Amino acid sequence: MNGNTSNMMIVVTGGAGFIGSNLCDRLVQKGHNVVCVDNLFTGQLANVRPLMNHPRFTFIEHDMREPLAMAGSIDRIYNLACPASPRHYQRDPIGTMRTCVLGAYHALELGREKRARVLQASTSEVYGDPELHPQPESYHGHVNVTGPRACYDEGKRSAETLFFDYHRQHGVAVKVARIFNTYGPRMLEDDGRVVSNFIVQALRDKPITLYGDGSQTRSFCYVDDLLTGLELLMESPADVIGPCNLGNPREVTIKEIARMVLDRTRSRSSIEHRPLPQDDPKRRQPVIDRARSLLGWRPRVELEDGLRDTIDYFSLKIFSPGETLIPVPVRALAMNRATPGGSRPSSLNGRFAQ
Ligand code: NAD
Ligand code: UDP
Repeated sequence: MNGNTSNMMIVVTGGAGFIGSNLCDRLVQKGHNVVCVDNLFTGQLANVRPLMNHPRFTFIEHDMREPLAMAGSIDRIYNLACPASPRHYQRDPIGTMRTCVLGAYHALELGREKRARVLQASTSEVYGDPELHPQPESYHGHVNVTGPRACYDEGKRSAETLFFDYHRQHGVAVKVARIFNTYGPRMLEDDGRVVSNFIVQALRDKPITLYGDGSQTRSFCYVDDLLTGLELLMESPADVIGPCNLGNPREVTIKEIARMVLDRTRSRSSIEHRPLPQDDPKRRQPVIDRARSLLGWRPRVELEDGLRDTIDYFSLKIFSPGETLIPVPVRALAMNRATPGGSRPSSLNGRFAQ
């Protein structure tokens, strides 16, 4: 393994997706060599196109359900390959389960061969529709094994099992992050998850599709905060394996999210109630004591700020589709807010870099 942690060879599976492409950006910016592996199921080449000519970036179109052979040394593998939105992971549930399990297996085999550290992007979905609130890592969860979400939930649970068994049986250095709802620039317009759905609907003045009565809760983490947590976990001491919750402990109802988005976009959209999907978790909030004490991590970006940046991103996508712009981290933007408070986002000068 390369002993220099500022110039590592890093593989990001699922690197053309929402979280993965933001991670690739960050790792390349930090001086690492990054290989993005993706089958473009929900990812887009547009997300990594600005990196394509970078000398330290390589894109490989590959399905993680197949073995991944690579020449040369590898220091780190972030295993993010898997559709995360219920709409997309339920499109091909058998495919999703196979991606979760075989994808993890192939990432771990590569890690074993190369003596690389492997981080698994697991999920709060391992807690299912939780009976314990908020959720610490010690909670074993409450998943409906045969329901429509199980392909993802049980797939991710099995992947965690594989990670721990590869560590115990083969001594592979592993890290398991349980990611709670994360949002931000580069979610797909038709991703189907709540934040992107509501923002796109509001910007287009289309009805806001609120499932159920909207009293169900989630805790939303801005992508920039999540990336910091993932990196800290990856670079943590060898005895820190996880699972480690990464999420924002601020719990909000989905109704509140609808209201916040409507206010911030000054939309004329109405709220349209739709049936609550089967097995939709009623509440979700992470206990992040472990991440705080072991990684010194906590989220920094307020929901209001993260939503504003995400609204700005989608405004550009929808109203200026020809532009090829890369969002820069919100921390760098805090001093440079172009959108006056309360006005409909229009100009984003200075907020995105080409
Ligand atoms: P995403 O759908 O935007 O990205 C997933 C990426 O994986 C896409 O680029 C997709 O094309 C790729 N992919 C899917 N199946 C593949 C396969 N078989 N082989 C190779 N590539 C494949 O989702 P995201 O929100 O960026 O999530 C990234 C990871 O984080 C996922 O593993 C997800 O389970 C996990 N996660 C995300 C959240 C969240 O709120 N965003 C929460 C919990 C866990
Ligand atoms: N949701 C909603 N309208 C939408 C999309 C989602 O009301 O257009 C609700 C969904 O029922 C759930 C919450 O928002 O209660 C979060 O859904 P998402 O798909 O974003 O994530 P997950 O359910 O996987 O946490």
